[in-house]
Amino acid sequence: MSPIDEEQLQGLQGVRDFLRIRTSYDVLPLSFRLIVLDNDLLIRKSLNILIQNNIVSAPLWDSHNGRFAGLLTSTDFINVIQYYNQFPEQIDSVEKFRLSSLRAIRLDIEKAINVQTLETVSVHPGRPLYEACSRMLRSRARRIPLVDVDDETGRETVVSVITQYRILKFIAVNTEQHTSLMKKTIRESNLGTYTNLATCSMTDSVLDVINSMVVRNISAVPVIDKNNVVLNVFEAVDVIPCIKGGAYDELKSTVGEALAQRPEDFPGIYTCQEEDRLDSIFQTVRQSRVHRLVVIDDDWHLKGILSLSDILKYVLFHGEDGYFPET
Ligand code: ADP
Repeated sequence: MSPIDEEQLQGLQGVRDFLRIRTSYDVLPLSFRLIVLDNDLLIRKSLNILIQNNIVSAPLWDSHNGRFAGLLTSTDFINVIQYYNQFPEQIDSVEKFRLSSLRAIRLDIEKAINVQTLETVSVHPGRPLYEACSRMLRSRARRIPLVDVDDETGRETVVSVITQYRILKFIAVNTEQHTSLMKKTIRESNLGTYTNLATCSMTDSVLDVINSMVVRNISAVPVIDKNNVVLNVFEAVDVIPCIKGGAYDELKSTVGEALAQRPEDFPGIYTCQEEDRLDSIFQTVRQSRVHRLVVIDDDWHLKGILSLSDILKYVLFHGEDGYFPET
């Protein structure tokens, strides 16, 4: 093994050890707010609550049984859109759907368009962070709720929600002595996806892009021009403002129009090159609100996508005796 390989593995091992001695509680800020939605709320109303509070997901609470009832995310809205598309005559009932019907919608959509959606997994906040990460990767969830259970009463409390983004940020901020050892480039580390990329143009309809996200189970699609130059990235969360107020017809609008609705504090997109070293990627994660990196060449041509799950998977499992989490 070359010295650079050895050093990289040493760095990875350092991060893994760190994740084993820290818990999900450690990632949470000292004080935070948590918006939990009652499962009886109308889906339409829940959408407004998310927008008003500038959040993109929330845990659900079943107040009849006093139980945690899953996580509402942009995927659920995408499912509702797919449902509406499959059964347009049902628009009136779509308007009357409550959050508690999301599960049934999910199953209908699975059948109608033959994709597999995922069950929400949760993790106890006191468990090692390594476990939360591997659960997340295994279930392909981008966020999981932290659910505490009272030993005596068995009552569940949703403590918070932890995301891939938060965990990578936590790693980048707290383990610089380890991540700085990772000097291999992303190409040498075999990180990211470079073939069979899903892309779209500014004039494609939002609906088409949503379809490709569902079918491929990805959370973002680069927007390119006819010369393969990257202009922007359409993200799953961009769907939320599109269907505000039940405006499902707006989905026929173009990607360009939808991107114009982004909030003012939208952080922009992040790019990298195949020659960038992993330590510099961690530096970007440390300093910015990165949800994925678009891999480009010197002239902004699209080369690939480096997702947070690609990075997290590498950090947790690379070189681990061929062990890879089953989905
Ligand atoms: P994340 O879980 O971080 O949100 P995604 O779900 O978008 O990431 O990505 C899942 C996998 O699909 C990753 O391996 C990523 O490299 C790949 N991927 C992401 N976006 C695209 C795309 N537009 N085309 C092809 N592959 C993609």
